[in-house]
Amino acid sequence: METRQFKAESKRLLEMMIHSIYTHKEIFLRELISNSSDAIDKLYFKSLTDDKVGLNKEDFAIWITADKDTRTLKIADNGIGMTEEELENNLGTIANSGSLKFKTENKLEEENQIIGQFGVGFYSAFMVAKKVTVISKAYGSDKAYQWESEGVDGYTITETEKKNAGTEIILELLEDTDDENYTDFLDQYRLKSLVKKYSDYIRFPIKMEVTHSRPKEMSDEDKEAGKTPEYEEYIEVETLNSMTPLWKKNKTELKDEDYKHFYTEKFYDYSEPLRYAHVKNEGNANYNALLYIPSKAPFDFYSKEYEKGLQLYSNGVLIMDKCADLLPDYFSFVKGLVDSEDLSLNISREMLQHDRQLKVIAKSIEKTISNELKKMLKNDREKYEEFWKAFGLQLKYGIYSDYGMNKEKLQDLLMFTSSKEKKLVTLDEYVTGMREEQKFIYYATGDSVERIEQLPQTELVKENGFEILYLTDNIDEFAIKSIIKYKDKEFKSVSADDLGLESTEKQEEIKAKEEENADLLKELSEALDGKVSKVILSQRLKSHPVCITSEGEISLEMEKVLNSMPNGQKITAQRVLEINPEHEIFGKLKSMKESGDKEKLGKYAKLLYSQALLIEGMNIENPVEFSNLICELM
Ligand code: ADP
Repeated sequence: METRQFKAESKRLLEMMIHSIYTHKEIFLRELISNSSDAIDKLYFKSLTDDKVGLNKEDFAIWITADKDTRTLKIADNGIGMTEEELENNLGTIANSGSLKFKTENKLEEENQIIGQFGVGFYSAFMVAKKVTVISKAYGSDKAYQWESEGVDGYTITETEKKNAGTEIILELLEDTDDENYTDFLDQYRLKSLVKKYSDYIRFPIKMEVTHSRPKEMSDEDKEAGKTPEYEEYIEVETLNSMTPLWKKNKTELKDEDYKHFYTEKFYDYSEPLRYAHVKNEGNANYNALLYIPSKAPFDFYSKEYEKGLQLYSNGVLIMDKCADLLPDYFSFVKGLVDSEDLSLNISREMLQHDRQLKVIAKSIEKTISNELKKMLKNDREKYEEFWKAFGLQLKYGIYSDYGMNKEKLQDLLMFTSSKEKKLVTLDEYVTGMREEQKFIYYATGDSVERIEQLPQTELVKENGFEILYLTDNIDEFAIKSIIKYKDKEFKSVSADDLGLESTEKQEEIKAKEEENADLLKELSEALDGKVSKVILSQRLKSHPVCITSEGEISLEMEKVLNSMPNGQKITAQRVLEINPEHEIFGKLKSMKESGDKEKLGKYAKLLYSQALLIEGMNIENPVEFSNLICELM
């Protein structure tokens, strides 16, 4: 008999299972039951359109059998089964190979992440078993096969006999250790409670022969003699699960932990969701839904690999695992499921996309999510901020994409750090806190709050006592520019040339100074050789000597972002060097100009420009020249 080898990645996962120190080994049962249920789903689905299957809904079941003598636990189903090839492909390779990309220092943490986030499926059997045997017969095939493995050394597949389509998984349990009592998994009470705990909602009956005992019939004489009755054992087949899916249950029957438990189990997220909603909608769209807002972004959330979507059921039958059409991109973080009678069971994926009813449901779900988020913002600020930290970026992308089409829906959910208390504020809070004379919503951009704090450009706005929104994500300014106006207030960058803050006298004073020094400014600008479009005297600088701003639509921050995108064309903002006319340095420049030292003036221009770039968090173009110039002037 040929021993076949596991694929490399599977082998690693398998090794991890075998040496597992995972604290909830009991989940293997849930995983195997869930596989059985999926397999039955498939055959049941077929039976609806294919009489040849010959089974009715009530014929489908999952059987659990524990045998203490042989230390084996068997999970059997009459689902779709597997062919020899499927046994090879499905059990020799792990589908979720992405799970192994995880790498952390801490073994237990890594294990928790892998098991928690992905559900390790079939291989979890090796956490409790030293040998696993799978006997399976695919529906429509006349041959059955046996897959057998004792772990990493490989597995064998041989032909065997089996009457009906379906699969049996037989686990030979590990010997008990000080830490782990595997024998316990053969105990009927333990099994019953595990099924209740993890698999209660499974739609097909999970059956087990349960041994009860009862007093034996006694003769009248014995009764009169006051004898204690003898007990006898009898066996009864019990259905261990209630089979009603959670979402179909009454809200009043359900506890907070039922919802949370269901979430962890179904979506493999070991951290509790921030919020959930149980929706029972009737009217233009009939559906039940469970919607969850996770507390953390999955590791691949902001990558192409992440697949959004809700599970879609048609009257209790799963028809799609991730129905993307049910969620707009900006709510792609939502997990959950939708069960509707309005959708035909036989609908194909292609047809589903164009289904009118599905669109109605999606609209309604979107509204629910939006309301839930608003409620969270209003009533549970702390949680909302946690949400914002995990998924705020996605909402900001949502505002910017599709030409700002969805901004109305999303703008009230936005948050930015404010200059006032360095706390997150909403746009509404900002506008409500605006001073009467304040015309604009001011913002400043930069890599971090600390960095923005120090930008010279913020001085004037702060001096006026106005709050500034600190935009630290690349997408922020693009999002803000898509909104254009919020509650009739325009957004204004602190670097904009028309901050609308200085009095007309002051403005005129600076104008006059500029005219007076036109030659000087021109000379400085020429010395910078096209790097800036002009050099001006600043109205916004209070203590700093120089800063760099931009004119036109593209800001310096946007320039950075656009140029960091792969194969984006090079875009440069029109840079403006601003000099503080009140600063000492301006007097120096003036006297240099008067004494006609053109060369020195040119060097100063370069120095000041580089300095301004540095403050802005940008690279200076020629660091060596910069350093030489400093030494020279020192
Ligand atoms: P997952 O369930 O996440 O796909 P598993 O490792 O649990 O990963 O199972 C791998 C595959 O093996 C399943 O996708 C399914 O095709 C097949 N499989 C597992 N158990 C059964 C079963 N009881 N009946 C039929 N097929 C099964």
